Amino acid sequence: MSGKETVPSFDLRRNYARVEGEIKEALDKVLSSTQFILGHDVSAFESEVNAYLEAHRSVSVASGTDALILSLMALDIKPGDEIITTPFSFFATASCIARMGAAPVFVDVEPDSFNISMELAREAVTARTRAFLPVHIFGQMCRLEDISDFLKERGIAMIEDCAQAFGAHRMCGDRIMRAGVWGELGAFSFFPTKNLGAFGDAGMVTCATDELGDKVARLRVHGSTSTYLHEEIGLNSRMDTLQAAILRVRLRHIETWTEERKDAARRYGLLFAERRLGEFVTLPLVTEGNRHTYHQYVIRVARRDELQEFMAERGVITRVYYPLALHLQPCFAYLGHKKGDFPVAERLTEEALALPMFPELTMAEQERVVSAIAEFYKR
Ligand SMILES: *Cc1c(COP(=O)(O)O)cnc(C)c1O
Repeated sequence: MSGKETVPSFDLRRNYARVEGEIKEALDKVLSSTQFILGHDVSAFESEVNAYLEAHRSVSVASGTDALILSLMALDIKPGDEIITTPFSFFATASCIARMGAAPVFVDVEPDSFNISMELAREAVTARTRAFLPVHIFGQMCRLEDISDFLKERGIAMIEDCAQAFGAHRMCGDRIMRAGVWGELGAFSFFPTKNLGAFGDAGMVTCATDELGDKVARLRVHGSTSTYLHEEIGLNSRMDTLQAAILRVRLRHIETWTEERKDAARRYGLLFAERRLGEFVTLPLVTEGNRHTYHQYVIRVARRDELQEFMAERGVITRVYYPLALHLQPCFAYLGHKKGDFPVAERLTEEALALPMFPELTMAEQERVVSAIAEFYKR
């Protein structure tokens, strides 16, 4: 790649080129079968994901957002219920709670992992708390072991937002804790830019019991138990067969791609150390015991917006996740929050910068990323 080409923040074309043949073959089969809703590929993908995650039951749905909504519906979340969650996440985490008529109760995050603070979450529990909805942000799991017994004792359910954490896990002593199988429910997204991405919208709910699994499976098809009989009101939220066929191919490669992301993260670490940028750049911290899957590689810097512009002028594209904390979103004004309520999350919205990260990212590209940062701070 020449020095003049752009370093993209992600590049789905390079990834597609590696599996194009396999994907076209899989799509051809679906097209000639004319089975487009549910069917063989969908159930095969569900069992393959279930085996990969070592989950009790995996139910495919139409998107990550629907996975969250259906998880809340499966728990019969009602208006007046409180759900504790993070203000530093993608919008859907909180909007799904509000959609159900329940109240999102935000608590602040940890500055080093960007994940919700378990200590603050415990303090936020009230008699109305029905569920805890942590997000494994950027591909690294929360320390769920610090809260799960506490929640169980109080009958509070846990829904893990695993949209960014497919394949992430965490060691607790000699026990392996996989994202999505610690709580009662886990919500996954296969949005194209997620680590395991479809070519459109798709999602999955992992369920810890048969009862929850059956309920989510009913709710995704209008709540029907048999054709045209409805005992409850659900959604139309099935996974397309075409998406399942694509995802089955991509699932076969996810371990390789995750390892490639981890290699890229390691290279960033070396490059930043070589340039002695420690004074200016805080690298993402991997919490002890975690397998970080680097959905995003997020650094913290001062003068973030200026740096982003400077890098863009040099052809290096970065992203800001997230520019506005959820409690300050206009649509949540009714919750009565103000600036300063969650200082760590707010500071991260000013300091966090996601560097280019995807499995095919090259060393030469990473050198350009880090050089641009060095040039900015050492001018
Ligand atoms: C992407 C994402 C979602 C929503 O998933 P969709 O498939 O886009 O609906 C929810 N939560 C988080 C944290 C996400 O990153």
